[in-house]
Amino acid sequence: MGKSLRGINPDCKPIGSGCEACLKAGGWWLHLRRCAQCGYIGCCDSSPGQHAARHASLTGHPIVASFEPLQNWFYDYEHRRVIRGPRLASPRWHPETQPAPGPEGKVPPNWESLLHEVA
Ligand SMILES: [Zn+2]
Ligand SMILES: [Zn+2]
Repeated sequence: MGKSLRGINPDCKPIGSGCEACLKAGGWWLHLRRCAQCGYIGCCDSSPGQHAARHASLTGHPIVASFEPLQNWFYDYEHRRVIRGPRLASPRWHPETQPAPGPEGKVPPNWESLLHEVA
């Protein structure tokens, strides 16, 4: 057993490469976040669905890690701040070939006007 961190299980793998809820609903996302506790993949707060934040509020899992290639930051929804965290189990990010916004073929031409404003 490694050191226990609030909301972070470094051994937990991501459940997929795209936002679970958007893929089910036929939606699209801007950027992806990975729940640091259970590996759920959800879309960011700028995305129409805001599924990472919804997952955090539904489950009480407070920390997400960016699932965008080469990004190493974490965000704590409970304390509303960017934090550092340990290296999570691979794959650490969605495939480089996967577009953002995504998924391919589901992004409307006017996608930029559909984003949420995030401070
Ligand atoms: Zn989503
Ligand atoms: Zn979770």
